[in-house]
Amino acid sequence: MKSSISQQEKEEKSMSQRNPFTDALSVLDRAAPHTAIPPWMLQLLKRPSRILVSEFPVRMDDGRIEFFTGIRVRHRNPYSTGAAPYKGGIRYHPAVSIDEVKALALWMTLKCAVMGLPLGGAKGAVVCNPKELSHHELEEITRTYVRALGPNIGPTIDVPAPDVGTNEDVMAWIMDEYSRHHQGETTLSVVTGKPVSLGGSFGRATATARGGQFVLENFIGLAQPKIPQTPRVAIEGFGNAGANFAMFAAKLGWTIVGVSDSSGAVSRAEGLDVPALLAHKRKTDSVVGFPGSQAVSQKELLVLPCDILVPAALEGSITRENAPHIQAKIILELANGPTTPEADEILNQRGVTIIPDILANAGGVTVSYFELVQGNNLDRWHEDKVDQELAYYMRTNTEAWFKILSTRVPEPRLAAYVLALERLVEPMRKRGFE
Ligand code: GLU
Repeated sequence: MKSSISQQEKEEKSMSQRNPFTDALSVLDRAAPHTAIPPWMLQLLKRPSRILVSEFPVRMDDGRIEFFTGIRVRHRNPYSTGAAPYKGGIRYHPAVSIDEVKALALWMTLKCAVMGLPLGGAKGAVVCNPKELSHHELEEITRTYVRALGPNIGPTIDVPAPDVGTNEDVMAWIMDEYSRHHQGETTLSVVTGKPVSLGGSFGRATATARGGQFVLENFIGLAQPKIPQTPRVAIEGFGNAGANFAMFAAKLGWTIVGVSDSSGAVSRAEGLDVPALLAHKRKTDSVVGFPGSQAVSQKELLVLPCDILVPAALEGSITRENAPHIQAKIILELANGPTTPEADEILNQRGVTIIPDILANAGGVTVSYFELVQGNNLDRWHEDKVDQELAYYMRTNTEAWFKILSTRVPEPRLAAYVLALERLVEPMRKRGFE
């Protein structure tokens, strides 16, 4: 018992000392030699272009004033701003750091490039715990954050979206507060992931999961991995990405053998009833205690016997400690940065295919892009059109990634970085930046 506690402490300590930004830079450094990127452009991509940090006061429900830290990082925009704004979500989380937001912004630049979207990369955050805040406090924090961002967001400048801890309500408040400060002119395209009734796109709420499904199905078609027709899936995280992925996988008849959330994890070798699990989560706020399931720890969830593991929570959950014990053949990264570089190496050696985040979870920003296109053209796409367009983007770019993976760069994450770097260099060159 004692030794397992100290092992756990050791792992937690090593995680808290991790810096996702330096981890991301180390992958860039390894990918660059596979491309003809000029050294100065690589240096450019290693630096965010702007970091805005503001401390702002908010009156809480009990009348107290509390201070919050708001962050927005712009990474790089290969087109420069104007027609192509910066793009990326806003995270509300108590432990979010500037370096984490820098990593997330860099990944947005790479993700948009992998998908061929005319957008730069950005990310924002407010250090807060949305689970402990009232609806009204969340609204006050959001509106104050928008005022702190001031002219740094806008439809042709930088367009936020949902991320961990934020949702369509937060996007509606952002849109409303921004519009109040712009002559009261309703400016829908300042943000994506809005409610459908307020200019949001059909399919945006489920887009990350749906995009992940398309990538996975295309990968299985191309690589023909040795997994059963109805694979067993374990999912870490039961928020927007994880829960929707569970629904899509269940519809395909796949077996969901385990699911975790921030309170714990449950498993059932014969498969969990996903709609009932969702209802349980809605009612109790957690997957824990789901009738007919077995309680497991969040750590055990990652190493359950399964064919596909879907990390859909936060950075750094797949580590050098658990990578040797992962039983899945395929890892579909619906989270951003869930695998550390050391774990990557171990999994590559073990022949586990990692479908990397900048491809696997790019469905979210892709439908955000569709939302911008619709907003700017006063257009409304029906659900089938969104789904068809998303399928097209995910398929063609999975094929582009797979081509690099199977012919030039046999490491899945590096192959995606190479695809991104080549697509970032090209427009900069064409503009005359040599
Ligand atoms: N937060 C999402 C991501 O990490 C979506 C970003 C967006 O839609 O702009 O990709």
